[in-house]
Amino acid sequence: MNAMSEWETVIGLEVHVQLATKSKLFSGASTLFGSAPNTQACNIDMGMPGVLPVLNEEVLKMAVKFGLAINASINSPTQFSRKNYFYPDLPKGYQISQLDNPIVEAGFLEIIVKEGKKKIGITRAHLEEDAGKSLHEDFKHLTGIDLNRAGTPLLEVVSEPDLNSAEEAVAYLKRIHSIIRYLEISDGNMAEGSMRCDVNVSVRKKGNKELGTRTETKNVNSFKFVERAIQYEIKRQVSVLEAGENVVQETRLYDSQSNETRPMRSKEFANDYRYFPEPDLLPVLIDDEFINSLKDQMPELSESKTKRFVKDYQLTEYDANVLTVDLNFANFFEEVAAKSKNPKLAANWVMGELSAFLNQENLTIQETKVDSKKLGNLLNRIEDSTISGKIAKEVFEEMWNTGSSPEKIIETKGLKQVTDSVEIREIINQALDQNPTQLEQYKDGKDKLFGFFVGQVMKISKGKANPEQVNKILKEKLEE
Ligand code: ADP
Ligand code: MG
Repeated sequence: MNAMSEWETVIGLEVHVQLATKSKLFSGASTLFGSAPNTQACNIDMGMPGVLPVLNEEVLKMAVKFGLAINASINSPTQFSRKNYFYPDLPKGYQISQLDNPIVEAGFLEIIVKEGKKKIGITRAHLEEDAGKSLHEDFKHLTGIDLNRAGTPLLEVVSEPDLNSAEEAVAYLKRIHSIIRYLEISDGNMAEGSMRCDVNVSVRKKGNKELGTRTETKNVNSFKFVERAIQYEIKRQVSVLEAGENVVQETRLYDSQSNETRPMRSKEFANDYRYFPEPDLLPVLIDDEFINSLKDQMPELSESKTKRFVKDYQLTEYDANVLTVDLNFANFFEEVAAKSKNPKLAANWVMGELSAFLNQENLTIQETKVDSKKLGNLLNRIEDSTISGKIAKEVFEEMWNTGSSPEKIIETKGLKQVTDSVEIREIINQALDQNPTQLEQYKDGKDKLFGFFVGQVMKISKGKANPEQVNKILKEKLEE
C-alpha cells in the first residue's frame, strides 16, 4: 500500500491583500509602487512621537465590499489593536492591526473541485498596515530600509482549515484573486507583492479527528510556488512522522530556487505580541446605511457572470467558468461575442487561439496584440464563408505578428476561400487524376479513402477550398 495514502492534508491560508487606495491606511502619504526609497513615508507612517493616525474611509468601503462578496458578517463596532514587535523595517515598534472585532467575520466562498463544488470557510478578514522593506541586494554587508510601503493598507483574509490539497489551496487563492479584481479593491499583482500568502500545512492519519501540528510558510508569492511549497511540506511532514518524530510548529520560508521550505523562526503566538486596543483610534461604527450604499455599488461577480454566460450565450458551465475567472478576460469575450454575433465561436477562439498566444508570450489580456474588434472581424469572415476556420488560424497569427486587419491579410495573401463550384470541381479532378491507384481502391470498396481525397483537394487548394462544398462535390463525383 502506498504510504502517502494513509495521510490526510489540512491547509489554511492567510492571504494579505494590498488595498488599492491612493493614500495610506492612517495618513495622506501616497501608496504608489516603485518610487524612490523613503520618499513616501510621512511622520505618521514612521510613528514619530506625538503624531496621530486618521482612518482612511476608502479602506473601510473596500473591506466591507469584500465582506459582502464572501457572504460574511460586518462587525460594528470594529476596532483596531496594537501588535507590538521589533523589526528594522518597523520603526514604530508596533503595527496597527485588528484582533477582536475584525471588520469582516465568518464568511465563505466556493471552489470548484473534481467532485463538484466545495465550500471553504473564511474565519475573518481584518485591516492592518504594512511594514517597510529591507533591501539586501544593493548594499554590501549592509541592509537598506525603504519605508515607502509602511502604512499601506492590507486586508488579511484568514481561511478555516478547510482545504485538503495543494490544488484546492490554489483554487481558493484564485477565487480570492478573482474577487478582489472584480471588486477593484486591489490589483492582485503577486509579483509586486499586492497579494501575498502564508500557507499553514499539517498532516494527520486518515480518520483522525484532531488536527496535526502545522507549520506556517510565509510570503509565498505566486500560485505555482504556493502549490510547490505545500507539496514539499506534505512530503516533509509525512516523512518526519513516519520516522517516528514530531513536526515542529514553526514559521518557515519557501525558497523557489531550490524548491524547498526551510525553518525561519519558532512559531510566535498572539500573546507574544502584547496586543492591546489602539489608544489613538476610536472603535468604528459601521451603520446599515453605509453597508447598503455599498451593496448598491457591488458589481456582478464571477459566479453570477458564469450563470449569465450559460443562459445568454448557451455556453457550457465549464467554458463560462474559464471565461469569468478574470474580469478583463470576461469583458473581452463579451466584446468579441457582440461583434461576431456567434458567442460559441467567440468563446472557442478566446479560450483557444487567443489564450495560446497570450500564454506563449506571457501576456495578460490587456496586453493582447489582437484587440476584440479585430478578432470579432476575423470571426465574421469565418461566418460569411470568406475563409475557413483553418485559414483563420493562419490569418490570426499574421494579425498577431503584424497588427494588420483580417481583411487586409486575406486580400494581400489571397486567402479568400474558393466557393466557386466550377473551380472546386477542377481541383477535385486534379486530385483524382493524380492518385489513380487510390481511386481504384476506393471504387473496390475502400471507403476510408474518402478522407484521403478530401485531404488532397485541400492540399492542392492550399486550404482555401470550402470544405463543405468539397465534401458534397467529391461525393457526387465518386459515385458517378
Ligand atoms: P496564527 O495567527 O497564529 O497563525 P491562527 O489560529 O489564526 O493562527 O491560524 C492561522 C491559519 O492557520 C488559519 O488559516 C487556520 O485555518 C490555519 N490552521 C490552524 N491550525 C491548522 C492546522 N493544524 N493545520 C493547518 N492549518 C491550520
Ligand atoms: Mg499566522
